[in-house]
Amino acid sequence: MIIDVHSHHFPDSIAVRAIAGMSHAIEGLLWPVGDGTLANHLDHLEHDGIDKAVLCQIATKPAQFEVLLRYAEAIRSGEMGARARERIIPFLSVHPDDTECLRHLDEIAARGFKGIKLHPYYQNFRLDDPQVWPMFEKIADLGLVVQCHCGYDIGYPGRYDACGPKEVAVLLRHVKNLKFIAAHLGGCDGHPVHSTDELADLGAYIDTSVLMRHWHYDEPMRIVSSWPTERILFATDFPWSSCSEAVRWVKSLRDQRDWDAVFGGNARRLLGI
Ligand SMILES: [Zn+2]
Repeated sequence: MIIDVHSHHFPDSIAVRAIAGMSHAIEGLLWPVGDGTLANHLDHLEHDGIDKAVLCQIATKPAQFEVLLRYAEAIRSGEMGARARERIIPFLSVHPDDTECLRHLDEIAARGFKGIKLHPYYQNFRLDDPQVWPMFEKIADLGLVVQCHCGYDIGYPGRYDACGPKEVAVLLRHVKNLKFIAAHLGGCDGHPVHSTDELADLGAYIDTSVLMRHWHYDEPMRIVSSWPTERILFATDFPWSSCSEAVRWVKSLRDQRDWDAVFGGNARRLLGI
């Protein structure tokens, strides 16, 4: 089974606008391979042989919690179709400035969702800021998985301060037993070589979503080929990478005996599916 632990699509009413807006903001440095809709996401998953994908919704404002919750429920209930129910694993999101943040985390866990997505740049916080640690302690207590953007974001040129490997390490030293997926190979992009390596000892998982244009860089190739097998999760960041090309890239770097774990086994264990 192949599970993609990092993917995106948007409700139909905003998908085209969202993808166009993001494409414009990054000035053509990256082109989406899909149109941002659920139907297109499902078509790619089926065509490329991906069994399940974690949908990373991001609450860019505190008030968005309810909207994201409704969408996640619609996916899970089958309201968005049987294909969506079967293949999409919706993650929720909370905003650190939400005064109801901890209660919302309780609600996410009580409803049986597996985890949440956070993005420090979109949500304006830093992982090494003690003010956000109670939120992470709550996430750890509830046993939720947190899938967090790490490192450079092409939409925030020049920013390296909020969620690089160093900030992830500070967080994981203070908040124990956190099921933390450090996206984009732990945020290696723009940071010194080997800076993500200590995250493995701190219990982090990393996901393999890397900008396609960086697939031939030494550090991403080194990390994918050498990280401990049980700590690395296949991911695409679809529609910002092609699923089938991402599978090929990871397979080219990883010994075949590791494929079961990297492409699905680790994710199944982490997500309890
Ligand atoms: Zn992403």
